[in-house]
Amino acid sequence: MLEIKDLHVQVEGTEILKNLSLSIQAGEVHALMGPNGAGKSTLAKVLAGHPSYEVTQGSISFFGKDLSELEPEERVYLGLFLSFQYPVEIPGVTNREFMYQSIKSQKKAQEKNSLSPKDFDSKVIELMKKLDMKPEFLDRSVNEGFSGGEKKKNEILQMNLFNPKLSILDETDSGLDIDSMKVVAQGINEQKSPDNAVLLITHYQRLLDYVKPDFIHVILDGKIICTEGADFAHVLEEKGYDFLMQKHGSNDNKK
Ligand code: ADP
Ligand code: MG
Repeated sequence: MLEIKDLHVQVEGTEILKNLSLSIQAGEVHALMGPNGAGKSTLAKVLAGHPSYEVTQGSISFFGKDLSELEPEERVYLGLFLSFQYPVEIPGVTNREFMYQSIKSQKKAQEKNSLSPKDFDSKVIELMKKLDMKPEFLDRSVNEGFSGGEKKKNEILQMNLFNPKLSILDETDSGLDIDSMKVVAQGINEQKSPDNAVLLITHYQRLLDYVKPDFIHVILDGKIICTEGADFAHVLEEKGYDFLMQKHGSNDNKK
């Protein structure tokens, strides 16, 4: 599904990702872990098509297409979804209108029938119930005045509604209390299917107790330095990233 090879990415003249390779197949859940500033969100943003992030070397292929050539919305139509680390507030646009128009344009691009407003409402309200969100959130402006946890749930709601092939979740667990964490984990687990893949970006092992990844990748200084199984999250929780930094060198000069 996704094949990233020797990727180098610059933002405003600084190289952030250096020689990063990652391959994700349908049906898999991957976790990407690493210390602050390692380049996790940079990877998420470059995959989604943020204009400030420039691919200077390497390649990203998504279902065999060169992702760097595509506009952000074309990536979405192919099945990419990004849950932001810091979801944006859009005053004046209701959550209902935002999600309805979004799904309409996705279905149109995919040459599928969209939902009627009535079917949309019943579908989205059913999904909101599962996420323990009140229907009132449909009539509020997108994320405006939402608590941190409510914003994160709103991202998961969009994911469950759009049913993307590849969901990239950037620290969706941060700021969640334990009940919200369980509800969000359930939303992520519902998204898992033999056709779909998930890339979970997280700092903590906590979420990974509820959503079992097939692989855990550790990113340091813009590069994936090791790939392990699900149990590795507990090793990281116990030892921190320090032991890996010592093993692999924490900056380029040491490598
Ligand atoms: P992570 O998500 O792993 O904590 P980020 O990908 O957000 O890390 O950031 C990686 C590094 O890139 C950080 O040192 C950050 O300051 C830098 N960076 C990200 N965006 C920009 C930008 N727009 N301008 C300058 N530096 C940036
Ligand atoms: Mg980040």
